[in-house]
Amino acid sequence: MRKTLVVGNWKMNGTRAFAAGLLSELKALSPWAADVAVCVPHPLLADAAQQLQGTVLAWGGQDCSVHAAGAYTGEVSAAMLADWGCRYVIVGHSERRAYHAESDETVARKAQAALAQGLTPIVCVGETLAEREAAQTDAVVTRQLAAVIALLGERIQDVVVAYEPVWAIGTGLTATPAQAQAVHALLRAQLAAATPAAASMRLLYGGSVKPDNAAELFAQADIDGGLIGGAALKAADFDAICRA
Ligand code: 13P
Repeated sequence: MRKTLVVGNWKMNGTRAFAAGLLSELKALSPWAADVAVCVPHPLLADAAQQLQGTVLAWGGQDCSVHAAGAYTGEVSAAMLADWGCRYVIVGHSERRAYHAESDETVARKAQAALAQGLTPIVCVGETLAEREAAQTDAVVTRQLAAVIALLGERIQDVVVAYEPVWAIGTGLTATPAQAQAVHALLRAQLAAATPAAASMRLLYGGSVKPDNAAELFAQADIDGGLIGGAALKAADFDAICRA
């Protein structure tokens, strides 16, 4: 019923030459049964658009402004991303929340700005290690998602939600499939209270997804794919995850 979605988050990695190489390798490895996208740094969007136009690979940004336009130095609007043909934009990644002090409300406004431009926001939620150890996981992810539901209302159905436990990002520690599934089930129940479309929404898991753990994670009932960091920078690894 739900088609698997695998999204590569390149984070702040890659030159134009690197992108040209990786994207041409991925194009050669395509197609996949899953939907696949890459979220590249903003300066690489033009290259991604040029190389991926007409392929099965979609592309997107890693953040967008809450504002439509104006005197916001350094920011990139959702309209600019749409202008480059982006289908997706990641909002509320834990690195943005931590290093740029993005609040739950800011993340919700970014999701709203993305939807207004026809983009699919990939809304990230997830607890820190301290929060997990304090048994706060459910409360944290529920609070983070509630802010987005409160602002978007029924339009929450047009969002992709990514559960990314902060302690699993870039650490080599992966949530067990059971741990991840438990949070995904909680999030889907929360979505179901907001929209009748919850059962068809895609919920991604992110945090040290690798070729050797992707299949088991993606096989969980409420896990519909992944948001991939480090492994998205190697064509063979990303391809293997897209086939998991
Ligand atoms: P890693 O796959 O490198 O752990 O990163 C996950 C992530 O943050 C994707 O957005």
